[in-house]
Amino acid sequence: MDVTQLTGEVFQPGQDGYDEEVTGFQLAVPSKPAVVVGATTAEDVVTAVRFAAAHDLPVAVQATGHGLTTSADGGLLISTRRMTGVEVDAVARTARVEAGTRWGAVLEAAGPHGLAPLSGSSPDVGVVGYTLSGGFGLMARRYGRAADHVRALDVVTADGELRRVEPGSDLFWALRGGRDSFGVVTAMEFDLVPVTDLYGGSLYFDTADLSTALRAWRTWSAAAPDTLTTSLAMIEYPDLPVLPEPLRGKHIAQIRIAYLGEDGDSLVAPLRAAAPTLMDTLKPMPFTESGSIAAEPRQPHGYHGTNTTVSQLNDAMLDAVLEHAGPGAPVPTVLIIDRLGGALARTPETPGAGWDSAAEFVVRTLSVVGDDGVAVIRRAHSKLSDALAPWTTGRLLPFVYGEHTAAEVAESVHPATDLRRLRELKRRHDPGNTFRPVG
Ligand SMILES: Cc1cc2nc3c(=O)[nH]c(=O)nc-3n(C[C@H](O)[C@H](O)[C@H](O)COP(=O)(O)OP(=O)(O)OC[C@H]3O[C@@H](n4cnc5c(N)ncnc54)[C@H](O)[C@@H]3O)c2cc1C
Repeated sequence: MDVTQLTGEVFQPGQDGYDEEVTGFQLAVPSKPAVVVGATTAEDVVTAVRFAAAHDLPVAVQATGHGLTTSADGGLLISTRRMTGVEVDAVARTARVEAGTRWGAVLEAAGPHGLAPLSGSSPDVGVVGYTLSGGFGLMARRYGRAADHVRALDVVTADGELRRVEPGSDLFWALRGGRDSFGVVTAMEFDLVPVTDLYGGSLYFDTADLSTALRAWRTWSAAAPDTLTTSLAMIEYPDLPVLPEPLRGKHIAQIRIAYLGEDGDSLVAPLRAAAPTLMDTLKPMPFTESGSIAAEPRQPHGYHGTNTTVSQLNDAMLDAVLEHAGPGAPVPTVLIIDRLGGALARTPETPGAGWDSAAEFVVRTLSVVGDDGVAVIRRAHSKLSDALAPWTTGRLLPFVYGEHTAAEVAESVHPATDLRRLRELKRRHDPGNTFRPVG
């Protein structure tokens, strides 16, 4: 590669900085690309894609490494972590970000203008990877998917050209769900919403009250307004001093709440009354602090996970959830159930499946990859998926974690008609599979 054309850096195996560049948040999908381009501009991405095409190297993209599913072994990896520019247009209520921007930077840039992005539980997740996966955020029931609020994408396609694509174009449709199969997005423009504060946090319930908390949350959230987005997590906490004392060594239920209203305390009263809480972090807060609602771990680790969207959550399903992810589960599993509905059932359907209006919940499973290995985790998670199968409507792309083949991902998350259209567009825009295949 003519490195004089690059403003960024190039790394090859064995060189200083190579391992650091390749290692992302997800440690269970290790990669050994033949070459890594640490891009700083869209022109760097153009140079890298043209080089890869000339040398018949497959191209992979990585921003933060939160959502890695397939290794980039032997190919050219474009690392976008240096491309972190954020511009907010407070009048138009839009933001334009470069490819490596994390949600935290957008929260900080938009907040002073009384605006917020459709970000998710973690401020560390990458804006582009999240949005190209659909993007299920803290205000999802009020505003719908992040992918449905994109105004324009700058993308380098397989022919090495930098293009701007907007609603109405095939590529625009394909990228939001086709993720890294159609090109490298170098910048994205999207809507912000007029939100400064929210009522948010979590209620934590003890092991003996798991079943009560699950049932109370199911009933309570059924009547929730669209201004409330909520999930329930079941987590087995290790007994470690870094964790909050009331949670150490316990298998707890965490009810997560993000509510855009003033009467939060009265709204959650039935949940607080359902059982004693171990910890209660609910309070009014600036939206910039929304990462504290779920309080997810911020240290890189290896994890494997999947999910299934379901049309209901009946008692038999709750029993299956407790059996497969509660105390005594065959493999320690973090289980998260999100209530869908609201605007999610009304906004246009992007590819990236499971986002269908029949889905009422998504049930996600995630396990840390340790001595057990991925095969054992997969078997344990599929037992729960099998138990939920009669009510399953699909699978959401953002919550497919860890090593999966491109075919497994595409075939499990896209409904047949979307998959056919994605494959047809793939043949047109990337016939040589420079980017990840669509199955
Ligand atoms: C702790 C945690 C919390 C999360 N919370 C939420 C949540 O609340 N809501 C939600 O919807 N999802 C959530 N996710 C899932 C997350 O949205 C996906 O994992 C997403 O793909 C991460 O994108 P990334 O850029 O950070 O990660 P990366 O692993 O760097 O990228 C993920 C995928 O996107 C592709 N990609 C990245 N940048 C580009 C680009 N410029 N052009 C083309 N393709 C690109 C990559 O090739 C890869 O396939 C969470 C994940 C974690 C680990």
